[in-house]
Amino acid sequence: MTNHKIIIAIDGHSSCGKSTIAKAVAARFGYIFMDSGAMYRAVTLYALRHKLVADGEVKREELINALPQIKIEIRYYPEIQKSDTFLNGENVEQEIRQLPVSQNVSPVATIAEVRQAMVKLQRKLGENKGIVMDGRDIGTVVFPEAELKFFVTASAEIRAKRRFDELTAKGETVSFAEILQNIQERDRIDSTRVASPLRKADDALVLDNSNLTQEEQLEWVIGKVEERLKF
Ligand code: C5P
Repeated sequence: MTNHKIIIAIDGHSSCGKSTIAKAVAARFGYIFMDSGAMYRAVTLYALRHKLVADGEVKREELINALPQIKIEIRYYPEIQKSDTFLNGENVEQEIRQLPVSQNVSPVATIAEVRQAMVKLQRKLGENKGIVMDGRDIGTVVFPEAELKFFVTASAEIRAKRRFDELTAKGETVSFAEILQNIQERDRIDSTRVASPLRKADDALVLDNSNLTQEEQLEWVIGKVEERLKF
């Protein structure tokens, strides 16, 4: 195997385990892991706190004007395969995973100016390659030249069940119906928006993990990375 580093793009629908796969691949190959969704979530948290979004309605112009005041940093700790997201210096990792952010992030992510700012940050992080980035437009817009692209999906019901189990295990009281509805709504908004809609890149490998265990999918993905690193 050669030592050259590549960019691995992992796109797909909401809550289908992209980050879990991306982190494991990063750990396996000594790459950086970057969760681009965390950046859109942090912008959304800022917007919620400043009343620039509520019930999915965004004050577009005001949010665009506020963009220079929104500083996002993601710190990744490879030893524990975890990252923390900072919004203007504050660790907001927990808060950005909660339902108010999930319910407002897709409308915020439709704004082209927000996307441009995030894409700039994301490209900077990929300058030296050796990165696994997950999101919605990584293989199509952020790194169209990425050497390896995956498109991950699973049925909405299965994704909702996994998210429900994850949140319940953390002790949160959540409704399955609300989670399913949120996943379906995010799929709809992400796939139909004008700016960088979620779509499979022509050269992406599809991974439908509806009926696969984490080990099975990881084995498949790692096999593809190893194959790609040979040439
Ligand atoms: O990946 P995650 O589900 O945390 O992303 C949250 C939301 O951020 C997505 O539903 C999508 O609206 C938006 N997003 C995006 N482009 C990305 C990553 C996330 O539009 N590259």
